[in-house]
Amino acid sequence: RIILGVETSCDDTSLCILEVTDSSSKILSLNSFNQDFLLMKWGGVVPELAARSHVKALPPLLDVTFKEAGISPEDITEVAVTTHPGLVGSLLTGINLAKTFAMMRNLPIVPVNHLFAHLEAIHLTEEVSYPYLGLLVSGGHTAFMWVKGPNEMDVLGNTLDDAAGEAFDKGGKLLGVGYPAGRIIDDLAKTGDRKKFDFPISYMRDRPGKMSFSGLKTALRVKVQSMQPEEVKAELPHLCASYQEAIVQSLRVKADEIIEKILEKKVNGFTTPIVIGGGVACNSRLKEVFKERYKNVHVVKPIYCTDNAGMVANWASRVPDLQVPFPECLSLDARSRYVEKK
Ligand code: ATP
Ligand code: FE
Repeated sequence: RIILGVETSCDDTSLCILEVTDSSSKILSLNSFNQDFLLMKWGGVVPELAARSHVKALPPLLDVTFKEAGISPEDITEVAVTTHPGLVGSLLTGINLAKTFAMMRNLPIVPVNHLFAHLEAIHLTEEVSYPYLGLLVSGGHTAFMWVKGPNEMDVLGNTLDDAAGEAFDKGGKLLGVGYPAGRIIDDLAKTGDRKKFDFPISYMRDRPGKMSFSGLKTALRVKVQSMQPEEVKAELPHLCASYQEAIVQSLRVKADEIIEKILEKKVNGFTTPIVIGGGVACNSRLKEVFKERYKNVHVVKPIYCTDNAGMVANWASRVPDLQVPFPECLSLDARSRYVEKK
């Protein structure tokens, strides 16, 4: 099998060619176009601009991706494309590319669940056995999942408001550090004192597994408003370190709670693998805290953490029964859920 992977769910345009044999899989090429420079001006994703940017980026990216892989379009045996969740306009650009490609060569399409793909990206670099406890931390989602297979995930806990990545990005906007702010805050925090400022951790003890990051964001706003601009600048590493610490500790507190109250296991006896995926899994402090606290932690490799087509093709390679044959695949749209097993 040679899979063409397509990812356009938000603001990254990404294509990948993955070769799959019975025993292994290999990325022949992976190319992404990142719109950060375009979105920086707005401090966040503007859906219409993101969709238009995908339309422009896809044709040259397709060219480069085939050239780099050293194969021709005739060699592709199936197309994998993110169909949900995501911004509708953005998703449709990738879905239309996938359909056009499928139409030219009578190929099946695998509609890909972007969130499952984020966690399962772990298998691009290492094999982790099922079941595992997945912590998905991305720009739009924050959830703990009980992962029984590539397409069998139960949500054990999730955020009631902002996602962890959103907390980083919106916090960064308040601090004026640039967009996307996760990596910038992570870097600035390295020289900061994480105990200098006291930011709240929401425990929500009466709602096991439920998380909230909006109060933390408000606390940062109140703090920043109480300071002079020069003071904010001078304290930036400490503000970043303390704010990041509150996000990371919120996730750690909830991981403990899920292990103890929902999975009914002791934290120090918990040997089930924990897999962390999604953009925030790049965070150095998050990795450090989780690896210190739990026994069997696996973190997706940074290049496969933020949106990329490698994780899309990889997920499709693991769910061959979800292929939608040609020509039925031509009716897939941005609402297409993963097809239930018959
Ligand atoms: P979703 O997958 O929920 O639809 P998304 O695709 O926009 O959202 P990702 O691409 O997985 O999200 O991740 C992007 C997020 O990761 C951004 O919020 C960004 O700030 C955050 N991020 C990236 N690197 C780091 C880092 N080192 N520390 C913290 N956050 C980071
Ligand atoms: Fe994502």
